[in-house]
Amino acid sequence: KKILLQKLRGQENITIDGKKINIYANIGNSTDIGAVLKNDAGGIGLFRSEFLYLEKDTFPTEDEQFAIYKYVAESMAGKKVIIRTLDIGADKQVGYFDLPLEENPALGYRAIRICLTVKDIFKTQLRALYRASAYGNIAIMFPMITSLEEVKEIKEIIQEVKAELAETGIDFKDNLELGIMIETPAAVMISDLLAKEVDFFSIGTNDLTQYTLAIDRQNPKLDKFYNPHHPAILRMIQLTADNAHKNGKWIGICGELAGDLSLTETFLKMGIDELSVSPGLVLGLRNKVRESDVSKILKNW
Ligand code: PEP
Ligand code: MG
Repeated sequence: KKILLQKLRGQENITIDGKKINIYANIGNSTDIGAVLKNDAGGIGLFRSEFLYLEKDTFPTEDEQFAIYKYVAESMAGKKVIIRTLDIGADKQVGYFDLPLEENPALGYRAIRICLTVKDIFKTQLRALYRASAYGNIAIMFPMITSLEEVKEIKEIIQEVKAELAETGIDFKDNLELGIMIETPAAVMISDLLAKEVDFFSIGTNDLTQYTLAIDRQNPKLDKFYNPHHPAILRMIQLTADNAHKNGKWIGICGELAGDLSLTETFLKMGIDELSVSPGLVLGLRNKVRESDVSKILKNW
């Protein structure tokens, strides 16, 4: 089966009835690039930048981050690399951040909330990302968004960063694609408004399931209740996709659900533009897409 899948390298992600979709890969470390290339992913749909912070005992500098982002962008040779800004907190803890102990960490001080509070941390990462943008096809994505105000503030900070870089004569791409993760029910419900502010959406089904069903994604006792196939989740994905497309924006899925082959046809029918999965799942997903016929799928969510 493995050898057979390798034959799909270089082939299109196209259904029997001619519908195409992008299949990208998720990575959590720059050392995963080899697997991305070996499995012929069309790009990187989620680069979890946390490892940069987790593998050190102090904040990674702008230059250290720049070197990694540049390496990843260059290795992908013009293919899209979507880098997610810091998503620390809750299930991902780092000692030197000195995060307070919280009663409800999943609902607490994490991800973009840290970045919009300690702006130096955020600006350092953004400067590194914009500098690296000169070396490939980088897009930036922001986690745990719940409001329009957050997105507007992010865009203001980006303007500042770009102005500062321009002032010092540093080369960068001015019009990077900027996207947000849709992983809270609030973001889903205002996705019509959010779509006007960003270039793309990527659905984080791991957190979206946790926050929609009010079920801790990390509590094994709740495994049988943690159901990302719940119609509430499928309807949220559909609603978000419709709002993206009404505004001329594209939408992907980068949570674990993206690689669930029992839902591939559902996602194709919904009009999802991109699925981002572990590198090892790329070719199996391509195979599934190529066996699918969207015209035959009935909507049942
Ligand atoms: C998600 O929440 O689905 C996601 C892709 O992000 P993470 O798993 O890193 O929280
Ligand atoms: Mg998440």
